[in-house]
Amino acid sequence: MTMSAANVALSFPGFAPLAAERAADASPWAEHHVALQDAVHDGTRVRREEPLAAKTTLRVGGAARLYAEPVSAGDLAALLRGARARGVAIFALGRGSNLVVPDEGVEGLVIALAHESWAAFEPRADGRVWVGAGLRLKNLCGLATKAGLAGFEFLEGIPGNVGGALRMNAGAMGGWMFDVVEEVRLMSSSGEIATLPKAAMHVDYRHCAELHGAIALGALLRPAAPAAGEAIGRQIDVYRKKRHETQPREPSAGCIFKNPPGASAGRLIDECGLKGERVGDAEVSPVHANFIVNRGRATASEVIELVRRVRARVRTARGVELTPEVLLYGKKWEDML
Ligand SMILES: Cc1cc2nc3c(=O)[nH]c(=O)nc-3n(C[C@H](O)[C@H](O)[C@H](O)COP(=O)(O)OP(=O)(O)OC[C@H]3O[C@@H](n4cnc5c(N)ncnc54)[C@H](O)[C@@H]3O)c2cc1C
Repeated sequence: MTMSAANVALSFPGFAPLAAERAADASPWAEHHVALQDAVHDGTRVRREEPLAAKTTLRVGGAARLYAEPVSAGDLAALLRGARARGVAIFALGRGSNLVVPDEGVEGLVIALAHESWAAFEPRADGRVWVGAGLRLKNLCGLATKAGLAGFEFLEGIPGNVGGALRMNAGAMGGWMFDVVEEVRLMSSSGEIATLPKAAMHVDYRHCAELHGAIALGALLRPAAPAAGEAIGRQIDVYRKKRHETQPREPSAGCIFKNPPGASAGRLIDECGLKGERVGDAEVSPVHANFIVNRGRATASEVIELVRRVRARVRTARGVELTPEVLLYGKKWEDML
């Protein structure tokens, strides 16, 4: 079910300053901006040309044509319905730790569940815990440790939030996000909420099919057996130390390529002598060959050119076609490589 943009606009109070924008700017984005802002309550601001680089860990790329941080499920649904009615593409944004934002930005409405109302951590009497999609994994680990809930330690050091970790089925230290998920609540692109048990979802290596085109609102997680906070803390420290020793400190988007079956992308790249390879300020990290780091002023085009170069060298030298793990935001790698 979709509401027309006109209906949406009629259902909510107008936002006066935006009327002037409509008159001054004939671009369709000005029209979309006014209509979407009219569709939500005042606490949810829809912004135009919002710079995205600083909202990502790699720190490259341009602006979102439209950007919003909805404060409630009602506003999120209004944004999704309004955008759909206008043919505006929607992109969810987590902590931006698995993204390359193109230099030209993103043609659509970027929605981030950054408001605190999405960051719930609610242990239940039966031992399970409800977490909001906007909760940072770092905070999930910290709160679980305090509550004596073991089983989430492997998430320590992944700089995303719960929504991004669900969409990517993030994994580390032998664990995957969906190992601890019991059910996911999501909102479809038409604004309807559904709760899916894990058994009904299609998840794989860095992939969750049901979250292509839908927005995760939160998840019910099942911890491992209860443990003392100190024991959980010690395990977290072990993982933190391991990351510290093996990963670069400069801005990055984590591992650039997926590991091919039975092989390590980092080792293949290293064996091709590519550590330290540079295009502008984008560099294959000398610390970990599967990380591309931003040495200061890298652009997305430089990162993309370096991805091309690394793939070509590994293909020629080793006959392996590497697939990017990092997402090219709003675009497809196939069209760029
Ligand atoms: C230093 C470093 C270390 C890393 N280590 C690891 C690691 O060990 N293991 C690992 O798996 N990854 C790792 N990553 C990559 C990244 O942190 C994970 O993929 C993480 O899960 C991405 O979460 P995010 O919130 O940043 O998502 P984003 O990067 O913002 O988005 C990723 C995808 O999720 C979608 N998305 C975001 N929120 C939602 C939502 N609410 N609903 C639906 N879709 C949504 C986005 O549209 C996009 O498609 C690392 C990255 C860095 C920079």
